[in-house]
Amino acid sequence: MARYREAVCKLCRREGEKLFLKGERCQTAKCAFERKGYPPGQHGKNRRIRKSTDYGVQLREKQRIKRYYGLLESQFRGVFERANKKKGITSENMLKMLETRLDNIVYRLGMAPSRNAARQLVRHRHFEVNGRVVDIPSYQVKAGDVVSVREKSRKLDMIHESIKRMKEGKQLSWLSLDKAKLEGSLLEIPERVDIPVKFNENLVVELYSK
Ligand code: SF4
Repeated sequence: MARYREAVCKLCRREGEKLFLKGERCQTAKCAFERKGYPPGQHGKNRRIRKSTDYGVQLREKQRIKRYYGLLESQFRGVFERANKKKGITSENMLKMLETRLDNIVYRLGMAPSRNAARQLVRHRHFEVNGRVVDIPSYQVKAGDVVSVREKSRKLDMIHESIKRMKEGKQLSWLSLDKAKLEGSLLEIPERVDIPVKFNENLVVELYSK
């Protein structure tokens, strides 16, 4: 499956904010954005801030959201198209669909240090949904579904380390995690206000509707 192969820290520097793509490293002084908070490239440091056009603003926001969830353009466009066909507000549908991807749920539950790591764990068949192995990161988890670590994967250090680092009280209201059982549930599809991201997702709709 196609995936982004370059240094992901460049993406944070390009977007001008931390996208938390590298797990624990993002919280340390080693974070590339903390050390070099300017755009990547030879002239990144001296790049002048130009006034953006409407198109430029929409494009940047789309890139930011796409990179935050770790999707390529065609995958992200596909999510948008499906969100557009659903009833309701397209931008909200899109965010809900991104949040309920299996890789994102594994990450939000704290069972992986980053979305990239969660995607890899899912692909390597370490997770089950309602007792059946699912190895598709984009799988849409539904309200009431139980996501658990497979019996044979229960000793994986990465999962245990990640859960250990999960701060008490940091769990989202629409998720529940049973640390002892290594399983979590999606209690309900989150409302927009319950999704902890500061995006203006309407700009994506404006961009793709041109
Ligand atoms: Fe972004 Fe994390 Fe790299 Fe920092 S360490 S630049 S937050 S991916």
